[in-house]
Amino acid sequence: MSPPGAAVGVVAAASLAAAAYGLRRLLRRRRVVRAVRAMGKVEFHAHLNGSIRLSTLVELAEARGLAGARALLAGPRTLEACFEIFALIHQCVDSLAVVRRVAREALEDFEAAGCCYVELRSTPRALGEHTEADYVDTVVDVMAGYAGALTPRFLASVDRSRGPAAAAATVAAVAALRRGDARARAFVVGVDFSGNPTSRHSFEAFERLFRECRDAHGLGLAIHVGECPRGDADASRILALARETPGRCRLGHALHVAPEDLCGAGAPLVEVCPSSNVATLRLASLRGHPRLGDVFARGFDVPLCLCTDDTAVFGTDLAAEYLKVRDAFGLELRDLALLVARAADRAFDAPACRAALARHGTPR
Ligand code: 5GP
Repeated sequence: MSPPGAAVGVVAAASLAAAAYGLRRLLRRRRVVRAVRAMGKVEFHAHLNGSIRLSTLVELAEARGLAGARALLAGPRTLEACFEIFALIHQCVDSLAVVRRVAREALEDFEAAGCCYVELRSTPRALGEHTEADYVDTVVDVMAGYAGALTPRFLASVDRSRGPAAAAATVAAVAALRRGDARARAFVVGVDFSGNPTSRHSFEAFERLFRECRDAHGLGLAIHVGECPRGDADASRILALARETPGRCRLGHALHVAPEDLCGAGAPLVEVCPSSNVATLRLASLRGHPRLGDVFARGFDVPLCLCTDDTAVFGTDLAAEYLKVRDAFGLELRDLALLVARAADRAFDAPACRAALARHGTPR
């Protein structure tokens, strides 16, 4: 029998070894997190008001006496709850001064997460005596004056729930602004089709307008599709349009879409929003996300870009989204860098996007 002192020594050595192992793991994890944050990334699918800084939202809600804000933000993120949060945010973002602040802070937050190029999208709103064009001009002014290293661009969102007449008015206002102003032409590079996907308005009612945006105004099209099942031909019309001019149309979410519609020559890039999609599909984990595992296993044969959607609503940032995908699918840093480099070609201002990545030093 060994003396009791020896047993204590064995236990102490085992504890030390376990502690050293734990520490090594912790340090390795910190290195990975730092590397993913530092890696040059691009963001194609971020809604401006959904990207409001959370502390700003709480501050604005309290200043306006919006009592239910904290309870709403603490609840689950079903599709319905998300749209209640957007309504709350819109109650808070009630002047161009607030729009200016939200836009500036969003750019700072994207840059802090290692984003080199962002296409921020927003639904122009007439606030007070100001027009929708003033709203767009305000965001463009913030982008043009942004002093950081991030390259920003703007997409004008069409909210399908407002109907086709409102959409036509928004597009006309944006087109007029771009016609008369070289700065607006440089920064406003696309239009987005979004808004509550359960709306009665089908894409068919907007299709001519989106063709006009592409063909007459030279704008890129970013279209939400297949967020929830719909009884109309919404998804099939959008998928057909997306293949017409490869590179000029990207798809948002594309969850309820057959995999064969998203691959092969001329396939549109899919803007994948991991946290948002997990929440709205009520998935137990990201590994259950439609298609992602297959796409990575087949060597990234479907064009896609990782995006945040609404950082405030989903409590995330761009680095966290890349980290989640890395962890769920066992990707290496070089896989993530390859995703970014391929996505850059589908930016609506691809030269600016590639230049931003090159300045950051991301290998291509
Ligand atoms: P905003 O356009 O006001 O800057 O950003 C918030 C708006 O973006 C929401 O009111 C909604 O119209 C749109 N939006 C944000 N996230 C989503 C989403 O996941 N799906 C859809 N369809 N629309 C969204």
